[in-house]
Amino acid sequence: MNDLYDRHRAVLPDWLSLYYEDPLEITHGEGRYVWDAAGRRYLDFFGGILTTMTAHALPEVTKAVSEQAARIVHSSTLYLNRPMVELAERIAQLSGIPDARVFFTTSGTEANDTALLLATTHRRSNTVLAMRNSYHGRSFSAIGVTGNRSWSPSSLSPLQTLYVHGGVRTRGPFAHLDDAGFVAACVEDLRDLLGHTRPPAALIAEPIQGVGGFTSPPDGLYAAFREVLAAHGVLWIADEVQTGWGRTGDHFWGWQAHGRSGPPDLVTFAKGIGNGMSIGGVIARAEIMNCLDAHSISTFGGTQITMAAGLANLNHLLDQDLQGNARRVGGLLIERLRAVAARLPGVREVRGRGLMIGVELVRPGTDEADPRAAAAVLEAARERGLLIGKGGGHATSALRVAPPLSLTVAEAEEGAALLEDALRAAY
Ligand code: PMP
Repeated sequence: MNDLYDRHRAVLPDWLSLYYEDPLEITHGEGRYVWDAAGRRYLDFFGGILTTMTAHALPEVTKAVSEQAARIVHSSTLYLNRPMVELAERIAQLSGIPDARVFFTTSGTEANDTALLLATTHRRSNTVLAMRNSYHGRSFSAIGVTGNRSWSPSSLSPLQTLYVHGGVRTRGPFAHLDDAGFVAACVEDLRDLLGHTRPPAALIAEPIQGVGGFTSPPDGLYAAFREVLAAHGVLWIADEVQTGWGRTGDHFWGWQAHGRSGPPDLVTFAKGIGNGMSIGGVIARAEIMNCLDAHSISTFGGTQITMAAGLANLNHLLDQDLQGNARRVGGLLIERLRAVAARLPGVREVRGRGLMIGVELVRPGTDEADPRAAAAVLEAARERGLLIGKGGGHATSALRVAPPLSLTVAEAEEGAALLEDALRAAY
């Protein structure tokens, strides 16, 4: 039936995770919509957090990429690279990190890998703290700090990693506590760990866990952690691969929900900033960024073509106030989905911020996570012309909604109605 799928299976690794029983081939897109190989149109409620921060086929990005391709793409780092310097200046200024330096990579994995290299070298320790249920990428070091076991396929990491409670507010041993009690219990857990281990180099954490199902701790958790970490000289790496660039609406960076914490020591970013062009990167104070004591280069991290795309995309995001759009349209979508949840006993909660919304599914009448329902809703939504994602911790039981940040009110209404219909069909 699906010839491309047969060919995929014959030549690509078994461990690549594909959505849908009959996997989808997306052939083109525009705005918030994409089309498959058969010409069917889908409202894209997931691509925003993957490749496409602003909109599919954004004309400004297409123009910047084709003009740069027609001029030059050469080594990123051996020669002066004007678009790289310009994008680094913009990002350093937006980061809130004093005396910030930016290093560009080609992916989020490589960004976290670099952040771990910097932190462990700076602190001369290969012990690292990470959050339970976290996801930080697929490389040897990134899987070593990935607490979500189903995405950490090897246990031979060179890092000594200790996992901290706090990333998931609604499940686990502290779930019954109120927000202040939850934060206090997690801080106690962190203190306890620090008392029983060699001094760690860093804590790496996603402000809102992405692959983990869009779960977030109470605001202020990382501010409370920061005090304890700072007292022990432990650096804080915020993995903003999913939460950066205004996606959460109220804030430009996810860490800002924790206000008092101040900017992290290192921030990593990737995914949609290139709107399809592969950009990742690390931001850190000069003192940390410059701690490496030998030369380094990168052929593709920060090529002229990806940087031109990033600049055009970032300008569009800021000019159009897409962060404000995420706040307004995301707020409305959360409201709509909460109304749907109130009508359906299988929806345990609708959580999130801006255009990063998680819908947790349970077996109706119980508190038991329901990964089969999540898979069924994904299929039913696709049949109705809506693409969504899924995620979760011990079970993949959350739906993930993350459209491009330019989503309109009409599209939010359309998507909420399609999702309600899909939920009803799947239950
Ligand atoms: N960090 C987080 C929080 C992510 O969600 C991801 C990707 N899902 C990564 C890192 C890795 O990024 P990439 O897939 O670009 O390597």
